[in-house]
Amino acid sequence: MKILYPKYYDTFSCIAAACPDSCCKEWAVDVDEQAAACYRGLPGELGERLRAVLRDTEDGTVMEIENGRCPMWQQDGLCRIHAELGHDALCRTCREFPRLRHDYGSFAELGLELSCPEAARLIFTGDDTQVISRDALEEEEGTEEETLQILLSARQVSLQILDRYRLPEALQLLLLYGYSVQNQIDGGEPAVFDPEKDLALSRQYALPGDRDAFLSFFMGLEILTDRWKLRLEKALPAPVWDARLKKLAKYMINRYYLQAVSDYDLVCRVKLTVIACLLVAFLGGDPVSTSQLFSKEIENDPDNLEAILDGAYTAAGLTDGNLLGFTMMR
Ligand code: SF4
Repeated sequence: MKILYPKYYDTFSCIAAACPDSCCKEWAVDVDEQAAACYRGLPGELGERLRAVLRDTEDGTVMEIENGRCPMWQQDGLCRIHAELGHDALCRTCREFPRLRHDYGSFAELGLELSCPEAARLIFTGDDTQVISRDALEEEEGTEEETLQILLSARQVSLQILDRYRLPEALQLLLLYGYSVQNQIDGGEPAVFDPEKDLALSRQYALPGDRDAFLSFFMGLEILTDRWKLRLEKALPAPVWDARLKKLAKYMINRYYLQAVSDYDLVCRVKLTVIACLLVAFLGGDPVSTSQLFSKEIENDPDNLEAILDGAYTAAGLTDGNLLGFTMMR
């Protein structure tokens, strides 16, 4: 099977003790069945400790956090399971994080999760030239090939939009072009990218941006850390257009657009991309660390992600007019 990935993917290496926001903090890690059975069967003090901190939930087994940390985290910043039993003994979540893989039948794409600070650094500053290789897996049949081709083309055009336009205009064009592609997916005419028309339509559709409605949507989601709550409470009066946020937009486009092949809904993913950039622009500060925190709070919480994908059509703060209004703020 053909495998595609950004060049920086191969350069990732966990910085462990030097990590400013370890993945061993704040999250209750999902432990796969095989690892949970192995941990529960271990002899000695490590086995006893693991039996005490593993908890079965209706969604599977998790490692309960203690004092805000994974109980296997040691003062030297390293993992006790890794230190005593080696890398292969880690559960699947910890072995793979922050590496991502998406399979699309005839090819697969690899990437890194923005919620890891070292991955965030690479996503914002690394060489994202695409590398193509092959693995031993067979190509699978059954992927919706026609829709996939439409999405691949839409992704290509969307990435070019980011290269050619300032971020506020790029966000307007992504949204309007996204609707045009959605129409094609739904059986309409082939999508046409017409920037002049779309920029004029953006000005026509834009409403005065309701910042409070936008931010209160996120205040109503699950909040993992106090620092995220504080950032939302202290959001800026208007978005700060840092050009580096184009890297966040590219990451979102690369990660989410093709997933519309599963439900034919591209617009909610386009809006997710626009919303991510707007939210991080409203929060200000260093765009790399703010994006990393956004990812940890939103992307890594399936309920929060789902709430945005659904809310893209229904939430008062996430209407097209509101989002377009924010892109007109200077
Ligand atoms: S968040 Fe990333 S760099 Fe930090 S400890 Fe986890 S994998 Fe390593």
